[in-house]
Amino acid sequence: MLSTPDSPASAAAPTAAYFDNAATTPLDPEVLEAMLPFMREHFGNPSSIHGHGRKVRAAIENARKTIAHLVNASPAEISFTSGGTEADNYAAFGSIRTLGLKHAVTSPLEHHAVLHALQALEKSGEIRLSYVRHDEQGRLNMAHLDELLGAHPRSFVSLMHANNEIGNLNDIQTIGDICQRHDAIFHTDTVQTMGHYQLDLQQLKVHFLVGSAHKFHGPKGVGFLYRRSGVQAEPLIYGGAQERNVRAGTENVYGIVGLAKALEIASSHMADHHRYVQGLKDRFITRLTAEIEDVAFNGCSALTEESLYTVLNVSLPPSEMNEMLLFNLDINHVSVSGGSACSSGANAGSHVLTALGCDPGRGAIRFSMSKYNTEAEVDFAVEQLARMYRKVTA
Ligand code: PLP
Repeated sequence: MLSTPDSPASAAAPTAAYFDNAATTPLDPEVLEAMLPFMREHFGNPSSIHGHGRKVRAAIENARKTIAHLVNASPAEISFTSGGTEADNYAAFGSIRTLGLKHAVTSPLEHHAVLHALQALEKSGEIRLSYVRHDEQGRLNMAHLDELLGAHPRSFVSLMHANNEIGNLNDIQTIGDICQRHDAIFHTDTVQTMGHYQLDLQQLKVHFLVGSAHKFHGPKGVGFLYRRSGVQAEPLIYGGAQERNVRAGTENVYGIVGLAKALEIASSHMADHHRYVQGLKDRFITRLTAEIEDVAFNGCSALTEESLYTVLNVSLPPSEMNEMLLFNLDINHVSVSGGSACSSGANAGSHVLTALGCDPGRGAIRFSMSKYNTEAEVDFAVEQLARMYRKVTA
């Protein structure tokens, strides 16, 4: 039996399971404890010069130092934002406009926070946008990236570390090397890997990278942007001088405190959680393969070395049930996300599965796990799903 200090020890069989941790994770109680004093007692505005303000300013600067230390950056390179979406937008709009970049490269598999930002810049005529080719499992073609950047030196490149739907891990070390060769500005969306993998900014050749607290048991509505020292980027939000004029607006103080605490906890237990959650994922793969005929896995999500250990994207055989898959799981108390390659019914269309050319007739479910899940919950979820399939195939 796998065990983690964070998973509930109860022996009672579960009657519900939450497997949508790539959408958001439950708040760690220790994180809440760290945040509460900044909701109750320490209410000052961090921009005020009196004692109330200074107390809160110190908490923000400590949080910045903690985060910088954990990703091996300097505190001045960290700016707090409202989350991953804002940080992705800031990297794209800020650097493209300030540096006058005329060409950007991304992939059709990116999160909409990146795709829609770059497509808006393309629509306004500010950039030309190219997409890196990928294979049918979503592996990016590095030779094509090299070719695109060879033809358009000094581009903006945005390629994520791990895909939020299929879990594919991109080799951001190699992408950074290619970008460096062609003098490109490299932004990587690390929303799904921050707090799950050690990221060392002295090793990675990235100019921008982002984190979002609610993906690693922190609060929602807060994240950060890393911007390498010396890289210019104009603000996305204008107003006061907060965040050294990079991001105006009174800071989300308790959010920032919670973000730093959550990243600290995640970083100190990373290897244990990795092993534990990978064990849950392996169990899902084994049990699903045994229980459901013709089950398959989208992207690289079933390949340990090539995918995020928290995400498994399951491809289910064609069935009349697929339209109502998420709904039926929900009424059986299993919370997951889906998204087949078609855009109708309960399975909202997935641009990622569509780009991979997945069969729209098959169902798709993303199980995403955290340190709070248990083996018994995996068994419960698989049993609910298998029972639904048995009914339609009987
Ligand atoms: N990028 C990726 C890869 C994500 O998975 C998400 C959230 O789902 C985001 C960006 C957006 O982050 P946030 O919810 O903090 O705005």
